[in-house]
Amino acid sequence: MKRTHHCNELRLGQAGEEVSLSGWVHSCRDLGGVIFIDVRDREGRTQLVFDPQETDANLVGIASKLHSESVITVSGKVRQRPDETENTRIATGQIEVVVDALVVDNRAEVLPFQIDDPETAAKVNEELRLQYRYVDLRRPEIMRNMQLRSKVATATRVFMEEEGFLEVETPTLFKSTPEGAREFLVPSRVSPGEFYALPQSPQQFKQILMCSGVDKYFQLARCYRDEDLRADRQPEFTQVDIEMSFVEREDIYGLIEGYLKRVWKVALDIDIPTPFPRVPYHEVMDRWGIDKPDTRFEMEIVDLTENFVSSEFKVFSGAIASGGVVKALNAKGYACVTQGQMEAMTETAKSFGAKGLAFIKVENGEWKSPIVKFFSDAEKAALEDKLGIEEGDLILFAADEWLNACEILGKIRLYAAGKLKDLGKLEMAEGQFNFLWVVDFPLLAFDKEMNRWYSSHHPFTSPVVDDIPNLTSDPKSVRGQHYDIVVNGVELGGGSIRIHQPDLQKTVFEEVLQLSSEVTQARFGYMLEAFKYGCPPHGGIALGFDRLIALLCGAESIRDVVAFPKTAKGSCLMTDSPAGVEPRQLKDLHIDVKVAKKAE
Ligand code: ASP
Repeated sequence: MKRTHHCNELRLGQAGEEVSLSGWVHSCRDLGGVIFIDVRDREGRTQLVFDPQETDANLVGIASKLHSESVITVSGKVRQRPDETENTRIATGQIEVVVDALVVDNRAEVLPFQIDDPETAAKVNEELRLQYRYVDLRRPEIMRNMQLRSKVATATRVFMEEEGFLEVETPTLFKSTPEGAREFLVPSRVSPGEFYALPQSPQQFKQILMCSGVDKYFQLARCYRDEDLRADRQPEFTQVDIEMSFVEREDIYGLIEGYLKRVWKVALDIDIPTPFPRVPYHEVMDRWGIDKPDTRFEMEIVDLTENFVSSEFKVFSGAIASGGVVKALNAKGYACVTQGQMEAMTETAKSFGAKGLAFIKVENGEWKSPIVKFFSDAEKAALEDKLGIEEGDLILFAADEWLNACEILGKIRLYAAGKLKDLGKLEMAEGQFNFLWVVDFPLLAFDKEMNRWYSSHHPFTSPVVDDIPNLTSDPKSVRGQHYDIVVNGVELGGGSIRIHQPDLQKTVFEEVLQLSSEVTQARFGYMLEAFKYGCPPHGGIALGFDRLIALLCGAESIRDVVAFPKTAKGSCLMTDSPAGVEPRQLKDLHIDVKVAKKAE
């Protein structure tokens, strides 16, 4: 018996046909001796009927004893379901197959957890789900994510091909370049004491490919970062990695807008409007207090510095006098904030070094706040005017140095929005996607502990041409040709126009980032050399493919869109990796392990 259809294929039009289906026993019901089995495969499910009046009694007996998730193949006749037994929730809900032959391909034992009811299955402990990932992947909700992922990967390739890109695979055994995240190292057997590193991204290879004349490169690239896994990260992940020659920033924006438009259409049948707004980093921080703003709701941060320069309230005027700013946001309708929530927000402010969190609650026509008594009429009028204060509002302030003030209110804005959403006071439409480009980032940031500058994106990012003369004299003022693409508060990707002049690249490494010329040579000598033998101007970007798919699937976690994800500790619970190795293997690799062996 070989299957003739998948389990989501049969419709009324096939009534009367003899068919064969294969799949997993999704559910089994005994209704007065008649057995109903829903057989499921990755496409969907079909109802099978084992009726003693029409099916061999032996088969009915076997069917009645099958455990869920056993694998079967059946043949039978398609028939319309009797009136009132139709199931409008599934595509095959108008028909059933009356079975006349059954082969049990594999008898399943009682499962570690049940997957026939989506709600119960979603509540199963994630560790158990990851240990038995093959069972978990069968859940229609997860399988749908895998299907969408595959569809988007194909759409990516088709789009890139249409745009004239070459897909090139770059090595995953690379060399250590320790300025980024921590790397996974792979010891070399042939060269004792030497190591490969798994790439954090194909950055250097893709730039070299531009030197090679590939012109337009892309890859669904596997990347590795050995970071302590905060929240929703994976040590290995996939990027849609892109590099192009002879381009400016706008060319990259246009390409990515076209790509995302295609992806949203293919995956969700949604037409997203393009172009996306381009907002400079400084403005983004000023308005939303975070470099990946969620712009689906307003609650923008307002600057009050000019209004409080000579305020009686010394916390504000003092902050301004020492070079800082005063900013505020209006959490509309949040005067009902609880004590605990207020404390949580105050803690956020304190974590940035602030002494506390100034606020005004607007209740019963009154501004309730310990600080209002210090405000002049003009200051109050400025607040009303700039913040649109109304009954029920909660105003929150930050008086600090610019970046701190922005970041404090940026965090509080997200916190308050979450609470207001739970209270039903803030609407965020399902299926709303607010894209924007964040542009004009500072090229460099200062590491106070190390007392030196580091690249905000990476050292290959080109400064804005006008700012190049200030590179060594005033590094802080230099803008980078770096851009991030953001949607609904998620950073989907980032990239830059690169440096392609060997001298400028050397200056950045040695004079700005303070790498010695030996280190520069050892790590990047081959790139500097390649730039000397004909290197076109170029730029690119990488999008996080897992994040992209999670957004499209509406998945809460990236783990739900990765077939075999790792836990927060970086282990695969199904295969139990990482794991110890044989002493012989270590010897081959010239490795002497010092830690005590993990308890068996
Ligand atoms: N390689 C960069 C990254 O992984 C992206 C880029 O600049 O193209 O973040």
